Amino acid sequence: MQLDQSIVAGLSELGDVPTYLKHVIKAGVVSTVDTQMIIDGNDCLAVGQGKAIASNARTSFGPIEECIEKIQLTICAEGFYGGNFHALVREFGSLLFSMIASDAQQAEVASWHESGIAQFGGFLMADAGGSSIQQWNTVFANDGEVLALDVDKVWIIEGHRLNFGSVSAASTQKLYPTSILVPPDEFAKLKKTASGTPFLDGTLQLGNVSGKVTVPKSRMLTRGGLVSTSIFLSKVRPRFVRALMAHVKWLDANGRIALSPQQRSSATALEAIAKTYYHGLVERKPSLPAALAIKFASNRLLLDLVTSETVSDPSIQRDLMAFTRMEGSSYRCLFEIYSKVKIR
Ligand SMILES: Cc1cc2nc3c(=O)[nH]c(=O)nc-3n(C[C@H](O)[C@H](O)[C@H](O)COP(=O)(O)OP(=O)(O)OC[C@H]3O[C@@H](n4cnc5c(N)ncnc54)[C@H](O)[C@@H]3O)c2cc1C
Repeated sequence: MQLDQSIVAGLSELGDVPTYLKHVIKAGVVSTVDTQMIIDGNDCLAVGQGKAIASNARTSFGPIEECIEKIQLTICAEGFYGGNFHALVREFGSLLFSMIASDAQQAEVASWHESGIAQFGGFLMADAGGSSIQQWNTVFANDGEVLALDVDKVWIIEGHRLNFGSVSAASTQKLYPTSILVPPDEFAKLKKTASGTPFLDGTLQLGNVSGKVTVPKSRMLTRGGLVSTSIFLSKVRPRFVRALMAHVKWLDANGRIALSPQQRSSATALEAIAKTYYHGLVERKPSLPAALAIKFASNRLLLDLVTSETVSDPSIQRDLMAFTRMEGSSYRCLFEIYSKVKIR
């Protein structure tokens, strides 16, 4: 089974994959594979769904996930405009924070909000040094109970106006990332600048954050361990794809883009697949390859809209291209899917 077929097989378990979307996925794989993947020529397994959870251990959506469901409906009616994109991302942040922060750390952040000390918190992952952790400039040194943190982060949503943040940093050995909560008083010492031209009709600005701060070791966000980030991404990517497809359909319905019938039915099918996947997480364990396959298909469909001139407004072209980079670029998704499904 080729890599594109293994992606389509995985998505087909979640819903109908129209022929047009299959072509888009195939063209996407052909143009994204790296040299090693071509040389390996390995056969691949179908992208697997997560294992079923025993019925007595199943849970329903928590309050944050319920809130995200409501925002999804608003995005269907209004697109990403009117603050809906920011509302969605804020809840994604709350979901991640609930998975990596202790109860005491969560209560402290809630108290900053209540007392008005801090309005905006962010997740600072993308690093000015490069995408692999070995290249990161953001590192911390552990001096007893105190962490000396060098921050050099880029492309953070509203990064130029954050009051506090969870900074993903490498220890000096640069083996794996650690999230460190930088509170408002220390965060205020960091340099913050707007980065690039805003997206979404001027309403979404990215920013860079850099400088040196010192925080106690108790600021490390270690609940859930390393695996929590991959569980979080499995939960968030499909939710983001559902919202993206709703935004695309809103743009189409409001005359800002003009989808072909095949593109429209592909967006509808992918929206349904993404929804089925994350609704199924109450009875299945997250499958990172399935979540990556959904994001890869979404990236390729968005790029298809741009290259087929369905989207004539250059600023909307740029918005859609940017969303193909957020929460998993095509190469990153494909590389990770390949490493999990190739037959060794
Ligand atoms: C709108 C928007 C909002 C964002 N918000 C945040 C935020 O709040 N917080 C945050 O931390 N970050 C944010 N980001 C940054 C984002 O999360 C990613 O870090 C960024 O887009 C880079 O993605 P990537 O690391 O997957 O890089 P890629 O560009 O995919 O590159 C990964 C690596 O693979 C290599 N590569 C790429 N393609 C190929 C190929 N075909 N063959 C071989 N090698 C290849 C590249 O050279 C690079 O070394 C945002 C980005 C955008 C556009």
